[in-house]
Amino acid sequence: MTDLDPEEFRRLGYAVVDWIAGYRAGVGDLPVRPAVEPGWVRSQLPDTLPEAPRELGALLGELDRVVVPATTHWQHPGFFGYFPANASLHSVLGDLLSGGLGVQGMLWSTSPAATEVEQVLLDGLADALGLGPAFTWAGGGGGTIADSASSAALVALLAALHRTSGGAWRESGVDGTERVYVTAETHSSLAKAVRVAGLGARALRVVPPSPGSLAMSADALAEMLAADVAAGLRPVLVCATVGTTGTGAVDPVAAITAVTAPHRVWVHVDAAWAGVAALCPEHRDLLDGVEHVDSFCTDAHKWLMTAFDASLLWVRDAAALPDALSITPEYLRNSATDSGAVVDYRDWQVPLGRRFRALKLWTVIHGFGLEGLRAHLRGHVALAAELASWIEAEPGFVLAVPRSLSLVCFRLDTGDPDADDRATRALLERVNASGTALLTHTVVDGRHVVRVAIGSVATEREHVVALWDRLRGAAPGS
Ligand SMILES: *Cc1c(COP(=O)(O)O)cnc(C)c1O
Repeated sequence: MTDLDPEEFRRLGYAVVDWIAGYRAGVGDLPVRPAVEPGWVRSQLPDTLPEAPRELGALLGELDRVVVPATTHWQHPGFFGYFPANASLHSVLGDLLSGGLGVQGMLWSTSPAATEVEQVLLDGLADALGLGPAFTWAGGGGGTIADSASSAALVALLAALHRTSGGAWRESGVDGTERVYVTAETHSSLAKAVRVAGLGARALRVVPPSPGSLAMSADALAEMLAADVAAGLRPVLVCATVGTTGTGAVDPVAAITAVTAPHRVWVHVDAAWAGVAALCPEHRDLLDGVEHVDSFCTDAHKWLMTAFDASLLWVRDAAALPDALSITPEYLRNSATDSGAVVDYRDWQVPLGRRFRALKLWTVIHGFGLEGLRAHLRGHVALAAELASWIEAEPGFVLAVPRSLSLVCFRLDTGDPDADDRATRALLERVNASGTALLTHTVVDGRHVVRVAIGSVATEREHVVALWDRLRGAAPGS
């Protein structure tokens, strides 16, 4: 039994590309969310695996019959939930190229190109985002492509544990005095990282917000740090979020680094969704203070036209992650690593193996240009500004928090909090049940809020207008 002959691959590959093109051309006509019951997909598939090989055409038929009707269509122009996951067709081609090369980029020596293309792209993006030279390879820092912001936060925490222990962590592990500072709005991946690192939930310190906001109070952080140090505890990491998942709130990075400066604590900026907006000079202020942090993460797979997974992580000290994570068994020894002249990205992540993710990112940057990426971001910010203005002008609707970039959070407001809360929830359910749009929610000050995250690859003005018509039409009293 051999693999596909390259000529046969060519023929089948065209069929697969045709299938994807057809799917994308028609995705806007499908209901965004499938109407399937749990277990339906399993009930449609045979219990046993085929003994004999079958034609690819039969598999594509199964995609049409079983997979498409049971898929939440993240590339639908009416997808406004969570944060949309951009899987531009440029990036799909890049993923195919990466799979075609089929390399393992764990060490420089196992694929020099996989490593160095990634280094060049991350340096270029550090510059394009305005992160500053400290995060580039020439400046002593460097960037990597992780699978997700969650993994990026975990490795930042591990590097922080190592550094704040004075290098003892690798040998002795944790001792129960470690503390990690977040807010109630911080992404749950930080709490998970704390758990995975073995610190236990007691290590999490939830810093209160500044009055009247959802952003971390730097003053409260300063007090907590001082009190913890006085109590013999060890501040390990402060996570500042630029663009929280719930409402897009922005923690004051510059003020936070001012109060963390006297301590050895590591400052990580989680800008998973919003960070890419700094490509546009008018949003550069999102990064105020970032030149003083230890690590910065933003996802290319949320709003930067790149199919999951591609989370961009930069650190100011290129030695920090290898110091914490590097382990070299004999079978990985090689002269390039021993020379110290190369980067081995396995030391920047938990797993050993890694994909050539940079190809996908390269295909995107090549295909759109930075100009095209800025236009994509700006288009969605402008649509969100329009939607927010319609909401503000509409009796019975209010913005729950100020618009943040392309995220608009609103609720119904007629003056009766309990009735409004029920009506807001019912409105969300009605719009989602229509199949034309998908919205998700959060809770702000104990009240339900509808989130409209504009950012899907295919979303245009007409889709936002249609959403607004439907929201108005589905509201009580309309
Ligand atoms: C989405 C999100 C994450 C998690 O991102 P993944 O890359 O999917 O792990 C983390 N932080 C924030 C602020 C997010 O919005």
